[in-house]
Amino acid sequence: MNITALLINFAYIISAGLFIFGLKMLSSPATARQGNLLSALGMLLAIVVTLFYSGLDYKWIVVGVFIGTVIGLVAAYKVQMTSMPEMVALFNGFGGIASLLLAWGEYHQHPELSVFIALVTFLSAFIGGITFSGSMVAFGKLAEKIPSKAIVFSGQHIVNGAILLTALASGVIFAMNPESSYAIFLVIVVVSLLFGVTSVIPIGGADMPVVISLLNSYSGLAACAAGFVISNNILIVAGALVGASGIILTKIMCKAMNRSLANVLFSGFGATTQAAGSGEQEGEIRPATAEDVYYILEAADSVAIVPGYGLAVAQAQHVTQELGELLEENGAEVSYAIHPVAGRMPGHMNVLLAEANVSYDQLVEMDDINPRMDTVDVCVVIGANDVVNPAALNDESSPIYGMPIIETHRAKTVIVLKRSMNPGFAGIQNALFFSPNTRMYFGDAKASIQALVAEFKSD
Ligand code: NDP
Repeated sequence: MNITALLINFAYIISAGLFIFGLKMLSSPATARQGNLLSALGMLLAIVVTLFYSGLDYKWIVVGVFIGTVIGLVAAYKVQMTSMPEMVALFNGFGGIASLLLAWGEYHQHPELSVFIALVTFLSAFIGGITFSGSMVAFGKLAEKIPSKAIVFSGQHIVNGAILLTALASGVIFAMNPESSYAIFLVIVVVSLLFGVTSVIPIGGADMPVVISLLNSYSGLAACAAGFVISNNILIVAGALVGASGIILTKIMCKAMNRSLANVLFSGFGATTQAAGSGEQEGEIRPATAEDVYYILEAADSVAIVPGYGLAVAQAQHVTQELGELLEENGAEVSYAIHPVAGRMPGHMNVLLAEANVSYDQLVEMDDINPRMDTVDVCVVIGANDVVNPAALNDESSPIYGMPIIETHRAKTVIVLKRSMNPGFAGIQNALFFSPNTRMYFGDAKASIQALVAEFKSD
């Protein structure tokens, strides 16, 4: 190894260390911002030292950096918080296609590969292709450009099984004789793209959090394989880190829904949701005005705020934080109960509340708030629906049965802020809204909370 390569690899070790410490810091909201910066620094270092490899064509690198920077900047400034999950899906997809193209480019230039390199070339192209097309379908579902419900047809598992077998058989043929298997490689590319579509299409919208983190993991694995293809140590390490952290997140998401990964991937959850869950609810709804809600909150000693996707849609995080402060000034103990899959991406609520400077120690996890829910005076549910639906506990026929929820129905009083009686993401009605201790406070969450803030201030 010459001295330049030695120095580059030494810098890569520092980069890998920065990635690992950055990831560690991401596990707490208090350190997440610095963690992100640290990891970004690691990536910058890795990119800069990579430019010192000899034989690079800088012209194309400059073009790539320019295009990537423009897309990244525009996306960072323009994309709304509510569209972040779609953006994450797109970026996962870009990672996947990059690995596929890298493997293809390398193979195209040097078709005489060893068995090992042929194998990792196959994996990089295959996993990268699945990640790309699967992410595009996930993007389409989240952006509602294609129906978000599970699209299932009879014999789907057999079709998917056949596609997978074709891919694996092609991979074996390719690895045994890469030099004369260009056509087989093209088959692998096509089959991987097809498999991404057919494996994500049957997954329902409500399971998208799991799919997104799984695709994130795939993009890491593809990058890791690509790292072996071009013998780049930092790509191997970074890919492995993304792959591992993505799979851990996938597991956490599955646990939060009380379902196995196999169930999420193969059950077609949501395809029958409408039929199963749209039945008439018993009881009546009790609408409340801003003034009614003000009097209830004014008398409360403990208030738990339960945010959901509607908080993100209404961009009500700042005014929610203001209400929280007013409640505290009024003598109430205020907490924010966060469900792991509230919103449309992992950590969605944490990000919004952090943006509004809600103190981290006021955030309470589902498992911590549920045991003491009976002692909570008022639960204020802001644009959350599925994650507080008691059907998950007591209705075996419900498609969300078994999913852990924030058990707001056990609080003394529940105030639900939403615009209508429309269902949430899973498409099912919610018995909480008909419960005798629930008051429905209809309207856009931001405007509704602003009205409450005005009531407190005029007091
Ligand atoms: P839901 O989608 O169940 O409910 C959101 C509620 O917000 C709706 O009932 C809607 O009612 C209300 N809402 C929408 N806009 C507004 C507004 N401007 N003002 C007031 N209310 C509003 O969200 P949850 O957070 O409870 O549950 C998340 C669901 O999404 C789960 O099913 C989860 O599995 C799924 N999911 C989660 C992901 C994640 O990673 N966290 C990713 C993808 C899906 P109305 O229209 O009447 O206002």
